Amino acid sequence: MMSVAVYPGTFDPITNGHMDIILRASRLVDRLIVAVAENTGKEPVFNIDERVALLEAELAALAEPPANVEVRRFGVLLLHFTQAVGAQMIVRGLRAVSDFEYEFQMAGMNAKLDRSIETVFLMASDRYQFISSRFVKAIGELGGDIAHFVGPVVARRLVAHYRENGLVPPPPAT
Ligand code: ADP
Repeated sequence: MMSVAVYPGTFDPITNGHMDIILRASRLVDRLIVAVAENTGKEPVFNIDERVALLEAELAALAEPPANVEVRRFGVLLLHFTQAVGAQMIVRGLRAVSDFEYEFQMAGMNAKLDRSIETVFLMASDRYQFISSRFVKAIGELGGDIAHFVGPVVARRLVAHYRENGLVPPPPAT
């Protein structure tokens, strides 16, 4: 049987930490579907079209884009999406202790709803452990250098976004 996994998230925007999980998960399964949530419960900076486009652009920018990864959007219950695409696995990334409680609850609830679908956690790599979309946005908004945390396409788009909205302060005078 072909192994299929779903890696769901808000990806607002996609960071190097997310990309690391995508690449590592893509080596574990035959097919990996990166699923971008339409309804996030958060107020995303980028709308669903932009979040999908940025993810696709970052994948395309890789020297060797993995052939078994596809990007999809979903607006239904994650479990229903996972069942609909025929996946047996939900992949999530786990950073330090802060993610644990939320991820533990989500995995537990999903397991109650459908025992046949396993949630699999990949530990964040040490170099990406501290990266979060939230802080990337906070740093970008204040004119900080985000190039260490996101790919070049996202970095450009994020700076453009903050400029368009008049949010980036001018660089410090030298
Ligand atoms: P969500 O809103 O569903 O938490 P996110 O886009 O914030 O969506 O994250 C998607 C998944 O990626 C989550 O499992 C999150 O823990 C994981 N993740 C986020 N940042 C990193 C990182 N730096 N390293 C590893 N996993 C990460």
